[in-house]
Amino acid sequence: MMKKKYVYFFNEGNAKMKELLGGKGANLAEMTNIGLPVPPGFTVTTEACIRYYKDDQKIADEIINEIFEALGRLEKITGKKFGDPSNPLLVSVRSGARVSMPGMMDTILNLGLNDETVEGLAKLTKNERFAYDSYRRFIYMFGDVVMQIDKNKFEDILDEIKEKRDAKYDTDLTAEDLKEVVLKFKQLYKQEKGEEFPQDPKYQLLEAIKAVFRSWNNPRAVVYRKLNDIPSDWGTAVNIQMMVFGNMGETSGTGVAFTRNPATGENKIFGEFLVNAQGEDVVAGIRTPHSIEKLKELMPKAYAEFEKAMRLLERHYKDMQDVEFTIEKGKFYLLQTRNGKRTAQAALRIAVDLVNEGLITKEEAMLKVDAKQLDQLLHPMFDQDELKLVKPIAHGLPASPGAACGKVYFTAEDAKKAAQRGEKVVLVRVETSPEDIEGMVVAEGILTTRGGMTSHAAVVARGMGKCCVVGCGDIKVNEKDRYFLVGELKINEGDYISIDGSTGNVYAQRIKTVEPEMTGYFEIFMKWADEIRKLEVRANADTPKDADQAVKLGAEGIGLCRTEHMFFDEDRISLVREMIVAKNSEQRKRALDNLLPMQKQDFIGIYEAMKGRPVTIRLLDPPLHEFLPYEDKDIKVVAENMGITFEELKATVEALKEFNPMLGHRGCRLAITYPEIAKMQTRAIIEAAIEVKQKTGWDIIPEIMIPLVGELKELKYIKDIIVKTANEIIEREGVKIEYKVGTMIEVPRAALTADEIAKEAEFFSFGTNDLTQMTFGFSRDDAGKFLNDYYEKKILEFDPFAKLDINGVGKLIKMAVELGKATRSDLKLGICGEHGGDPASIEFCHNVGLDYVSCSPYRVPIARLAAAQAQVKNPRK
Ligand code: PEP
Ligand code: MG
Repeated sequence: MMKKKYVYFFNEGNAKMKELLGGKGANLAEMTNIGLPVPPGFTVTTEACIRYYKDDQKIADEIINEIFEALGRLEKITGKKFGDPSNPLLVSVRSGARVSMPGMMDTILNLGLNDETVEGLAKLTKNERFAYDSYRRFIYMFGDVVMQIDKNKFEDILDEIKEKRDAKYDTDLTAEDLKEVVLKFKQLYKQEKGEEFPQDPKYQLLEAIKAVFRSWNNPRAVVYRKLNDIPSDWGTAVNIQMMVFGNMGETSGTGVAFTRNPATGENKIFGEFLVNAQGEDVVAGIRTPHSIEKLKELMPKAYAEFEKAMRLLERHYKDMQDVEFTIEKGKFYLLQTRNGKRTAQAALRIAVDLVNEGLITKEEAMLKVDAKQLDQLLHPMFDQDELKLVKPIAHGLPASPGAACGKVYFTAEDAKKAAQRGEKVVLVRVETSPEDIEGMVVAEGILTTRGGMTSHAAVVARGMGKCCVVGCGDIKVNEKDRYFLVGELKINEGDYISIDGSTGNVYAQRIKTVEPEMTGYFEIFMKWADEIRKLEVRANADTPKDADQAVKLGAEGIGLCRTEHMFFDEDRISLVREMIVAKNSEQRKRALDNLLPMQKQDFIGIYEAMKGRPVTIRLLDPPLHEFLPYEDKDIKVVAENMGITFEELKATVEALKEFNPMLGHRGCRLAITYPEIAKMQTRAIIEAAIEVKQKTGWDIIPEIMIPLVGELKELKYIKDIIVKTANEIIEREGVKIEYKVGTMIEVPRAALTADEIAKEAEFFSFGTNDLTQMTFGFSRDDAGKFLNDYYEKKILEFDPFAKLDINGVGKLIKMAVELGKATRSDLKLGICGEHGGDPASIEFCHNVGLDYVSCSPYRVPIARLAAAQAQVKNPRK
């Protein structure tokens, strides 16, 4: 067997090797191979990371040997030597998972410096200030990332010396000042760790690699993975690369740039850089950076190279790129490229533009937009009229569009607590760091006083589709005492503010929000998606208002109208209660007769809103406990209406109580016991259809759906009632109208006997909420209480009620599809559980041959795109 290879030099890899080399490593390899100026280096694979965890957090000897062999090769190429004071090789050590996890993992720069090599570096570059600037950064990063020393302790030392020297920025410190910083940093290190700062570069390197491996499991990486559906067993690669220095003086610098604008999608290079700075300075928001235009002015030669590389990268990758670069004494280097994170708005514009520029096809364009991200565009914006009447109190950089309004909180922890109390929150920070991620998740919007468009806050907020304003220097935040000032104005914790992520404006009041307009690029792109997809997309809607919204968002029909939702209204609930507790069919009929006209009116409203599109109406399916009167005052009302005593009714209610209502008297079991209910509902469905047909001429074909069937005879019993009732009405009215009778597949037995069920059912709709509940045996109402333990113990990676469990529940669906089709080749197949709006589950539905998915109205655009993506990935005729 060939020995496994754990280390790859950049020229040995390519962009397709992301699983093994991580995204960063694979792209460094690709850029090296297409001749771009990338400092040489090598990648330790994700498999080495997985092995590290398998070997009890140790790096195996064979991997260590490979690492040092590669290092030897790097020494040869660069002509420098690791640990050699006369010409020291310094490296960066950076993480890189399969997909980019911005700001989630750790980086160490200038590794290889020690008390001797720093002197060597100073001599060699004739720049003592630079050498000590690099050394102090290294000690800080090594102390923080590898040794977990609280970084505030380093910051305090730095601030103290800056204050003593009256220095505003780090760049104002002299070589002597930085030597003092180094000395103090080393003292701190010894005090914290009980040993001297390590001087052996090889030891430094191995410790740094281990720290990157460990960072894969740090809490913020775990949170990010969960948010983005990234499996925990992928591991991260480690990239070791010769350092180039942006901190060598005024002809050096470092920056980040996007080939197009990541907020709007405009086709114009967008970026920021800092002169005489290193690595994380730009993203960390330590100094507010220059815009990229300034680079053209200051270093025209380097800018020309930069621009050429940007163009080449975009043509090569056929997508907007996000790059990191460094200029060392006027020479331009690329340190990273990846497909840039972008807002949904930018994603649509870039996808459409790339097609129009002839770079990609419409099919390829579908894969450039994350379906879930469309959600961002469906959220409210500020009411423009109201906006005209208010004056902003401050202005920052518009980092991520949208409108947010909420109460101010100054720490992630406080924001989280407030959100748990049900408050809407705007998180206000001087700057955010990866530790703030949970606070950012719960916030409506994020406002920071420092940092640029590529700061941590900006990048992460855009990824989340969250409104964000950064670099708002007008406000002075006091995080400790929990307030901020804008001039004289003081805003305390808990006060309302509004922020506009499209303009950067901040307002000291609540502002009304309105629905967004879905035109322009959105419309063009979604039209392409509709042309490409084969799955039909319907909506779950129970009211004319929801139905109307669903149509606006592109729904082609209603896949599930839950009729029980129509019965919660105040004027109806006591009639429903009467129907449930009725002692005989006489009493029940009285209640149902009263409900009939209301129910008919509901269906008229829905048919009218759908303008002739198909509508699937489900017969009553509530667990009875949702309707029973429990409070004495409610029991009194119902008893009075029914002309029975309070005591008598109370006893009936007691008798109807169930231990397990979700597995109790619900679904089709109700109509088995009380056929009058199915009769009344069928009457309402058919009479309403006739009325609307006569009025509008639309050919309405109601689809009547029976819930919770597990046995053919259950279905047959109820279907017979429906058919008899419907045919009598049709005959009586003398109107030609078709209708269909089908069933939900949501009890495992129905899936297992789908060949029999299909004898009577004209369509199946998979109710994956109940099907998941009954397949796992997890109560859908209670599972939330223990599923977290399952995620923590890595028993489950995701919530099976949100994302379809393909191995189990999916197997039942596949079986039911095959069995059902074998009996009835034209069986219509759909899904109406929550999974019908989840992109990964939709892909499964496409692959397994369903005809449609049905989801809540706001997820309809997501489903339309996910269906198109599924078709592009796995075309079906
Ligand atoms: C289902 O079970 O998936 C379903 C759509 O029905 P409900 O959620 O109403 O039980
Ligand atoms: Mg159900």
